[in-house]
Amino acid sequence: MSEKKVYTHVCLDCNTEYESESARRGYCPDCRKERQKQRNREYLERKAKGESRSVGSADICENCGQPFIIKTGSQKLCENCVEKGIIIRRTKPNNSKYRAEKYDEIHIFLPKGEREDLKSFAALHGKSMNEFVIEAITKYRKELEEECLF
Ligand SMILES: [Zn+2]
Ligand SMILES: [Zn+2]
Repeated sequence: MSEKKVYTHVCLDCNTEYESESARRGYCPDCRKERQKQRNREYLERKAKGESRSVGSADICENCGQPFIIKTGSQKLCENCVEKGIIIRRTKPNNSKYRAEKYDEIHIFLPKGEREDLKSFAALHGKSMNEFVIEAITKYRKELEEECLF
């Protein structure tokens, strides 16, 4: 037998008796799992709504799926996994590689203040800035080409 003291508690949620090494009353293993799942769900919902992650808020470890408190802005792993030296391979470089294979990139300079104006104008017409610029270029080019026919 282990030397550890085992306490018997009644679950705060379902009133089932359970044994725990903690002296503090809490939840039985089943309810704990349920609450964990609930927290994960809430987290995913918040994430889907685009609420930003910030230092001091909770995130889910990308390696083991356990929640942890964010200590630095870029932290993706819980402390256990950080200690184990686990490194998450980022998907971002792959995306930019894909982008580099599929697209050419151009940079456009606009008069100060016009970017936001143009962006909201494009959004108003249901287009991203990128789509808007591409369409504008295509149309203008066609216009010029037609002009040259005369
Ligand atoms: Zn319970
Ligand atoms: Zn982890």
